[in-house]
Amino acid sequence: MARYLVSGGAGYVGSHLVDLLVRQGGEVVVIDNLRQGHRAALPHAVELIEADIADTDALDDAFESGPFHAVFHFAALSLVGESMRQPLRYLRENVGGGLTLIDACIRHNVKRFVLSSTANLFSDTGTGPIAEHATIAPGSPYGESKLIIERALHWADTCHGLRSACLRYFNAAGSDPEGRLGEDHDPETHLIPLVIDTALGRRPPLTVFGDDYPTADGTCVRDYVHVSDLAHAHLCALRQLDTRSVTYNLGTGEGFSVLQVIKAVEQISGRRVPYRIGARRPGDPATLVAASTLIRTEANWHPKLTDLTTIVKTAHTWRAAHPLGYGDRGVLEEARPGALPLDPTKGRALGTQYLGAS
Ligand code: UDP
Repeated sequence: MARYLVSGGAGYVGSHLVDLLVRQGGEVVVIDNLRQGHRAALPHAVELIEADIADTDALDDAFESGPFHAVFHFAALSLVGESMRQPLRYLRENVGGGLTLIDACIRHNVKRFVLSSTANLFSDTGTGPIAEHATIAPGSPYGESKLIIERALHWADTCHGLRSACLRYFNAAGSDPEGRLGEDHDPETHLIPLVIDTALGRRPPLTVFGDDYPTADGTCVRDYVHVSDLAHAHLCALRQLDTRSVTYNLGTGEGFSVLQVIKAVEQISGRRVPYRIGARRPGDPATLVAASTLIRTEANWHPKLTDLTTIVKTAHTWRAAHPLGYGDRGVLEEARPGALPLDPTKGRALGTQYLGAS
């Protein structure tokens, strides 16, 4: 049975990948400092090492429990706007943590590494879909920090034979269609969960960050890619590492404006979303849409949940059911006799259920 180490596996995208790996029979160890991640987002069978990836001793302990077929690296600060206010913190934590993890992989003879990278590497993006060979010019310290890790991985392959897949996510969105996993950030800054919470009356009116961009309705356009499709892309990319390192852009190829997202949420929730137009958010490019033909043709990635309505619907289902996010959950565990399900309708098809925290 293949063993995997997942840094940041208790976070939003990481937990969806962990779920997929476990369902496919993998053994998973997660290293996560739980600053943004949630224990309740992990199945009981997954070993959680609650530590920071900058902690070399903790990493060495984790690697002792290998060998690992691959390491997936999610643990990072990930907010564009925040990185414009705290550039050195982003560079220090993301670059420092990433390099420490890569170094540990080399020392412990790991051969495959999959990086959660970003579209924020591309700055002057124009309006068309962005391919992998487009000009790189990070629009924020966050994007810069990911670029440095991509480059470090290039040299780790060249000099040490550590093969890597750099996966440049466009906008990860939605949640597990079976309603067990979701998006729970504190504070939440991402558009779709904020619009949903506004529709549900849990927040004051939304601020739209600028309506004077060179787009059809003046608001920013993004390529929202479903988090379950993203998780699958990691497995497709991993297979490529048997022969070489790869870099892929990950999106659906279709962009939606902030106002279109608001409209989609209004349709699905049946409620009006009050909003006002505010100033632009520093670091935001006008349009970010992926050309992801490369991973489709080379690695056989076939995203299934590609329309905005489906993406918003899955996010809405989870948020409506979990006003406190994972805060109202116990521990996500495999079903076992005698367990006390808080919500027995959830997860049954996958052999999992939520248990009250002890
Ligand atoms: N956005 C907005 N109001 C908000 C949050 C986000 O207008 O309260 C916009 C943001 O400027 C961007 C888009 O929504 O154009 C998506 O932002 P998000 O933070 O979800 O993802 P990012 O593009 O930064 O990765």
